[in-house]
Amino acid sequence: MQKIQFLTGISAEKQQKLQKNCFRGETQNTISGYAPLNDFQPEMAAIINQRVDQGESSMGGAKPTLLHKIAGHVARINDVILLSKDEGVWTASDDRSVRLYLKRDNDQFWPSIHHFMPVAPTCLFYSEETYKLLVGLINGNVYEFNVADDFNSMTESRKWTCHAGPISGLGFALSSELIFSCSRDKSIVWHCSENSNKVGSYLLENSCTAMVIDLPFVFVGDHGGHVTVLRIIDNQPNLVSKLSAHTNSITSLTWDGNKKVLYSGSSDHLIIMWDIGGGKGEAYELNGHNGKVTTLCAAPAAKRLFSADEHGKLMCWDMDVRRVETPEWKTSDCCQKCNQPFFWNLQAMWQRKVVGLRQHHCRTCGSAVCGSCCDNWTTYPPMGYETKVRICNDCAGRMKENPGNFDLTPLAIPHEIRTGITAMHLQETLGLLVTSGQNRVVMIWDVRSVCSAPSGSGSH
Ligand SMILES: [Zn+2]
Ligand SMILES: [Zn+2]
Repeated sequence: MQKIQFLTGISAEKQQKLQKNCFRGETQNTISGYAPLNDFQPEMAAIINQRVDQGESSMGGAKPTLLHKIAGHVARINDVILLSKDEGVWTASDDRSVRLYLKRDNDQFWPSIHHFMPVAPTCLFYSEETYKLLVGLINGNVYEFNVADDFNSMTESRKWTCHAGPISGLGFALSSELIFSCSRDKSIVWHCSENSNKVGSYLLENSCTAMVIDLPFVFVGDHGGHVTVLRIIDNQPNLVSKLSAHTNSITSLTWDGNKKVLYSGSSDHLIIMWDIGGGKGEAYELNGHNGKVTTLCAAPAAKRLFSADEHGKLMCWDMDVRRVETPEWKTSDCCQKCNQPFFWNLQAMWQRKVVGLRQHHCRTCGSAVCGSCCDNWTTYPPMGYETKVRICNDCAGRMKENPGNFDLTPLAIPHEIRTGITAMHLQETLGLLVTSGQNRVVMIWDVRSVCSAPSGSGSH
């Protein structure tokens, strides 16, 4: 069994620091319980592989290829699932429909099942082994359907009134015969799939927004930006830890069962990779979206992560490279480079007869610095910065003097879909990804080239 050593919660000191920084105009995602890099360590960066071509990513010029578009939905699509054996897509929409689209001989997708629920379905879970479909509804009910072998019909087999609010996550652990559901009503409930009985539950402080299961572990994201890690023993929940670093609601979770790595996406634009299996409490930021991250899919075999946001950017991350943790932001009342006081340091401003300056933080060393000491913008993919961030003059100098120590090769491939993504699902064995957009169009992508492209490091 994997050992999880994350510390629980966020210390009062760190919380104060966060609030202070917030008041001073910047907020940092503080990864609690983690050993921060106290200073920028070039020797650490030096081990990162060198690649000459800085335009292409570590995965070369590979791109997702659009294979099919499925139009015809009249309302928002809340969830999509790709079948692994037959070419088919489940959708759940605000028009109350649950549909199964199958690819016909003419290469077009047509609805094979079109079923209306009493109220809007919010999420789906499909078990290909058992042909069972779970549908979570906005009113807190969960329905189970048996899907016919020919995919032409689905029959309601059970219904649970589990929750008092919209269902935000569903899961089915076949081996332990448990069906999990979580809801905006803050609760997580599990039922026995054999006798339908409720066998356990857990209540969070915030609305549950996402869930992934790899028993005995259950990971639940919430509206407050936390991820609660539960261990289920004899149907009883045990709180293992609370991962607190996001500064806004968790929107999506995905689990890489090979590496025992959890990814959380958030409305704070950030993705955090939590190295649960590593046992050292390490976490890494993936910073490439300029809007709310809406959905994530891990590709464990290919060592990739797919993420999408509200503006329609789809990113494929190379997770087969060595990454560096981001430093914790330092606090100071004066610029740590030129010693000029910040604007709240009234005493120093008065004594030295100077005007206080705005505080910034160098993203690579964490120093608290003024604008003119921090006037350099760069990407730094090993720390997850795929878009340009502010770094201090010292760090920029080190990068200029020893460009060989700072590999700026992109470690992710951005792709513009031009419509906000509401849901996404990957069938890694097929190399197919499905997305649903705010334009109510379902798109199926061939991602084989992205998944099979040579990875950045490959050497470990
Ligand atoms: Zn300064
Ligand atoms: Zn710096």
